[in-house]
Amino acid sequence: MTDCIFCKIIEGTVPSKKIYEDEDMIAFNDIHPAAPVHVLIVPKKHITNLDGSRDEDLELLGKIQRVAAKLAKELKINDAFKVHTVNGEKAGQTIFHLHYHLQGGYK
Ligand code: AMP
Ligand code: ZN
Repeated sequence: MTDCIFCKIIEGTVPSKKIYEDEDMIAFNDIHPAAPVHVLIVPKKHITNLDGSRDEDLELLGKIQRVAAKLAKELKINDAFKVHTVNGEKAGQTIFHLHYHLQGGYK
């Protein structure tokens, strides 16, 4: 999608601190971290949010959770972390390309 910042990060035309990539998704550090470790996990497919997902995305959505768990282990935050997605403007969604916040590193 031409006007989507996360699509541009996926294409590489907007920089990011990338920490993971596979054929289905990428993960990079959130530009305004709200926790000591704050990573965004973003599917390469442009889906606006969870409400915009379809049954055909089931495998992708499952893979994202497994990648979240693996990244939590790699980042050594697997003892205490949160994974969440924000759906819709009223809930605070600001980027309309599905993404999951992985947050941890709490003392
Ligand atoms: P939300 O849509 O509420 O889930 O929030 C979007 C998240 O994306 C916020 O935590 C922002 O700090 C983050 N964000 C926005 N632009 C960028 C960017 N260019 N690189 C990394 N993170 C970003
Ligand atoms: Zn997009």
